[in-house]
Amino acid sequence: VADRNADYLEGLNPEQREAVETTDGPLLVLAGAGTGKTRVLTTRLAHIIGTGLAWPSQTLTVTFTNKAAREMRERALNLIGDAGEGLRWLGTFHSISAQILRKHAELAGLKSSFTILDTDDQIRLCKQVIEAENIDTKRWTPRHLASLIDGWKNRALTPGKVPQDEAWNFADGKGVKLYETYQARLKVLNACDFGDLLIHNITIFQENPDLLADYHKRFRYILVDEYQDTNVAQYLWLRLLARGTGNICCVGDDDQSIYGWRGAEVDNILRFEKDFPGAKVIRLERNYRSTAHILAAASSVINFNKGRLGKTLYVGEETSADPDADKVKVRGLWDGEAEARLICDDIESYVNKGGQYEDCAILVRASWQMRLFEERLIMLGIPYRVIGGPRFFERAEIRDALAYLRLIRSPDDDLAFERVVNQPKRGVGATTIQKLQTFAREDGRSLFTLVPMILQTDEVKGPAKRGLTQFIDQINMWRDRLNNGMPHYELAQVILDESGYTDMLQKDRGPQSQTRLDNLKELIHALGQFDSLPGFLEHVELVMDVGGQSSGNEVQILTLHAAKGLEWPMVFLPGWEEEVFPSRRSLDESGMKGLEEERRLAYVGITRAREKCSISFVANRMIFGRWQSVLPSRFVDELPHEHVEAVSETGYSTMPGGDTGFTGTIEDLGERSNYTSPGWRRLKENAKSASSKPGPIIDGKAELLATSSGKSAFRIGQRVHHEKFGYGQVLAADGTKLQVNFEKVGLKKVISTFVTGV
Ligand code: ATP
Ligand code: MG
Repeated sequence: VADRNADYLEGLNPEQREAVETTDGPLLVLAGAGTGKTRVLTTRLAHIIGTGLAWPSQTLTVTFTNKAAREMRERALNLIGDAGEGLRWLGTFHSISAQILRKHAELAGLKSSFTILDTDDQIRLCKQVIEAENIDTKRWTPRHLASLIDGWKNRALTPGKVPQDEAWNFADGKGVKLYETYQARLKVLNACDFGDLLIHNITIFQENPDLLADYHKRFRYILVDEYQDTNVAQYLWLRLLARGTGNICCVGDDDQSIYGWRGAEVDNILRFEKDFPGAKVIRLERNYRSTAHILAAASSVINFNKGRLGKTLYVGEETSADPDADKVKVRGLWDGEAEARLICDDIESYVNKGGQYEDCAILVRASWQMRLFEERLIMLGIPYRVIGGPRFFERAEIRDALAYLRLIRSPDDDLAFERVVNQPKRGVGATTIQKLQTFAREDGRSLFTLVPMILQTDEVKGPAKRGLTQFIDQINMWRDRLNNGMPHYELAQVILDESGYTDMLQKDRGPQSQTRLDNLKELIHALGQFDSLPGFLEHVELVMDVGGQSSGNEVQILTLHAAKGLEWPMVFLPGWEEEVFPSRRSLDESGMKGLEEERRLAYVGITRAREKCSISFVANRMIFGRWQSVLPSRFVDELPHEHVEAVSETGYSTMPGGDTGFTGTIEDLGERSNYTSPGWRRLKENAKSASSKPGPIIDGKAELLATSSGKSAFRIGQRVHHEKFGYGQVLAADGTKLQVNFEKVGLKKVISTFVTGV
């Protein structure tokens, strides 16, 4: 161990080393992007364990995303090997507070089998709560209430603590009352939402000093990454826990505070020295991640923000000395498709020159921007992964299957009950369910426990009665099997088959049914990787993306928010247009504060790049179904000229690739090209329904449309052309999937949309 110790300390600069070795007392590391804050934190963790100051289980390490937590665990294990086993308390705020709450659920009025609701369930519950008060849900939407409640929870405000005037934010003063009902309903459901995890922790600690003292003994060292993004609830939780030993180390960067819209308080970082008396503050200034050009670009943009602490960043000799380093590229294009084409071509040529797909990331402001890139990547056959979505566990069939499993875990889970009691159809209609809900509300019990009693009455008759009886009997039987030792993954298959769910999908001839069956297979596969059903459900509730787990050699697509803390050699930042980025919403809702937060997001984006950073904007963008002429983002103007290479001085009125003179509207183009794919029809309909004039479209679009046939029926033996694979002959067709023998590249499976008959 001694050798390894020496190794990892030697790699550090003096300030980093000081931050690692100052183990006692409160410590704040305040430093810019890429200066090694996360590295310091990981090394510090290894140091604490390696030198015997604490066992792994006596350390608490909090990071912001699941991906960051996974990476941190890996890095720590690399440094200290097996000694790092038992890092039970390394995770996100959510995962750690959930672990704690499971142990003491009864102190919060819950059973340890409680369900963690996701946004969808949360909104359904809000809807019920609003409806029960006879409030118009069109005027006062469930989504609005859910976001108010979230906001209060982020600020650690239980119903009793919400300021008077804020009750008026909803339904003429009924806001707090609804919040109260919502919390009461959660208890009956034996459930909590994400915000509750921390709130319950805080309440439990405050009300049970002995228990808190136990945790003080347990957590001898607390380490927190991305401290600038903690909200009030997280902050209070940390403070309660740190009161024990006072050994808390937080690292952060005020310039990267990007969660203000979710209640993060950058003030937490500014107040650190006040809150933790005797705190030491260490600053790191040398950036190890990016080239001088990238760093200069990032610094120049962030300098336009007024409210900042001000930090300098410099580049180490190795990187700045590189005279061949690329400048930051800035490119203007005609529209989103041209932008996607260019970026994907760049990726191809990077890989052709020996680069890896996984070294490339496309970072977008909002997830709707992802689709164009996904489509282009699919078309070129480039492997990619969307991090943080398309949320596997949010698909309908997966949610249905999970609801069955949740109900087996916790019979009080009414939301799960409602979701599957008539899925597949068992004759239990909406009226019956409403009736049951009314009973349950009055009785204060859950549906599952109430139904057997109701079935002995004549309240429910005919098919509904038969359906409910069967449903309850089956759930009880499945739970028995689980308790009698049937493996949970086997049980899941049994449930899908015996409930008639599989059958329902097999009979459904819709285009999605095969995909749904495949997804369910994937679910059972995922179940098998966990020891127990509760363990699995907990994972799902916290992670919500199984897809994020395996990471092969794939291009990564993610939002700027999700990219925090990560790095790639090659980063693309598309969509730098006014109203997209900075987003219109952030400007409308939060004015200058919103703008500064967007600018910090730009800073986060640029500083993710190690070697190459490429920013782009377009002249015409389809935003929310409407073609609009858009202007380059003001952030483009804030880039320093000497570090930027404007790849074509196209501005935003003329575009590369030449203008063939076509300047018609979308409708015109549609008529001319006889294009009939669903995507195109949607485009046309959108254009028609748009109130403003649709923007012009140029040849780039026309060319793409002309090469796509839009048909899905191809003859066996037909000669076809594929944009990437060239000419070939169709051997077999299965729906939209074709098997084609290409002249140059041989046998490939392709999607008919990307193939033209010739
Ligand atoms: P961010 O603010 O983006 O989260 P950070 O401050 O957490 O950045 P790290 O991710 O820890 O920075 O480090 C950035 C990169 O620099 C990593 O690749 C890391 O391995 C490397 N690095 C950090 N410190 C050193 C060092 N002393 N010597 C060599 N490389 C280093
Ligand atoms: Mg970091």
